[in-house]
Amino acid sequence: MTTIVQAKALWEAVLGDLQLRVTRPSFETWLKDTVGLTHEDTELTIGAPNAFVAEMLEQRMYSLISQAVERVAKTRLEVRFQVVCTNGSPAVAVDGTSPLSAPEIQVGDVREALHGSPGELLQTSGAQPGLNPGYTFGSFIVGKSNELAHAAALAVSERPGASYNPLFIYSGVGLGKTHLLHAIGHIVAAKGLSLIYATTEAFTNEYIKAIREGKTEEFRSRYRGADVLLLDDIQFIIGKEQTQEGFFHTFNALHMANRQIVITSDRPAASLTLLEDRVRSRLAGGLVVDIQSPDLETRLAILRSKAEETGQAFPTDVLEFLAERLHKNIRELGGALTRIAAYAHLRLTPITLDMVKTAIADAITPQERRSVSDKTIVEAVSSYFAIDMEALTGRRRDKPTALARQVAMYLLREETRLGLTTIGRIMGGKDHTTVMYACSKVAKQIDIDPHLRQDVINIRESLSTR
Ligand code: ADP
Ligand code: MG
Repeated sequence: MTTIVQAKALWEAVLGDLQLRVTRPSFETWLKDTVGLTHEDTELTIGAPNAFVAEMLEQRMYSLISQAVERVAKTRLEVRFQVVCTNGSPAVAVDGTSPLSAPEIQVGDVREALHGSPGELLQTSGAQPGLNPGYTFGSFIVGKSNELAHAAALAVSERPGASYNPLFIYSGVGLGKTHLLHAIGHIVAAKGLSLIYATTEAFTNEYIKAIREGKTEEFRSRYRGADVLLLDDIQFIIGKEQTQEGFFHTFNALHMANRQIVITSDRPAASLTLLEDRVRSRLAGGLVVDIQSPDLETRLAILRSKAEETGQAFPTDVLEFLAERLHKNIRELGGALTRIAAYAHLRLTPITLDMVKTAIADAITPQERRSVSDKTIVEAVSSYFAIDMEALTGRRRDKPTALARQVAMYLLREETRLGLTTIGRIMGGKDHTTVMYACSKVAKQIDIDPHLRQDVINIRESLSTR
């Protein structure tokens, strides 16, 4: 109870501080309706009215907020955001991994986001409810990897129902599907057409709820009344027969009425194998476009644009370094920038290449790493801590040796595909539970001990030159 009271009061004070530092629209839109939920140890959890606000606070305003918290609390706290409904109970996690245990709330959220209610946060921001205001065509960087998807999305938003129907966009995670989908949504909404944007999870939950409550008729008429249906992450429908049924009929009704349907998926339609054939062939019946991983040039362009958004100065060598190292997806690029900006902000240091190497060491996966052998790792640890191989893989229990041994186990686990038992054997016949313990201990420790963290970073770096 007290932690709730404390959290509430603390956050009120932080809001007071923030109110003086951000513009009024920005405060009204993003901060006004947040509440302090809990304050435990070094963690402060803040409730946000919906996932977009939570995401915005976390991704764009984190350093600002965490500084204000530090000013008010006189100590640094880890700030977390959680979506809550109006009575303050947790609803859906920001990352969407949220529990199906709260389907009603999720459905409610979506409905509210779609139709809005007077005074709703997102409405006052002037953005289309349910759509991330930052996901527009304007902020979407076009390169070889996504130009087709971009062109198709643009065509569809200009003439919904008339060009490609359905439009099916697929790609690996974090490559811009949701961004494009929302971008279409903004244009369509600006034309005054009615649109429904839903994640397939929300669609599923809503459908199941409708069945349970005998309101399928309402469900149908709501979906069928849309000029444009944007359905995100259709792969979630796999294995859910009832929902596929609901989707199939909704799809047919809309399609026959020439309403635009845009669907995203993290795999190609053809490989959605557990999907009923009739559903699959419907999906593949329109235009299918994919988004590939961005090439270096595109990654650099994206980094430049995102760096500008942070309002902090990122030197070119830093951006180039990031563009070269981070190639998996675009979310990762954005995440690295946010982290660096926050890091620089907190430490009041300018952003430099050295600083960046430390700040994002964890996120980086140098290609060399994949081929690192177990022997290389053990040798690197041995030479770094100046503890000979025999001692390292032996039974000596003095503190430095024990620590070096644990670091070696941790790195073996992180850098190779070896199992716990194998790692135990390499380390001189240790039990797999010992290895497990060592790994989790080091993982926790490097979060709180900057020296150990630096040690691990140094050893990792030395691996690539061995
Ligand atoms: P997906 O839905 O494919 O998993 P998202 O659309 O959520 O990916 O994109 C992940 C992040 O990367 C978002 O913040 C998005 O704005 C950004 N992003 C993706 N593609 C681009 C792009 N071409 N230009 C700018 N930002 C992009
Ligand atoms: Mg997505």
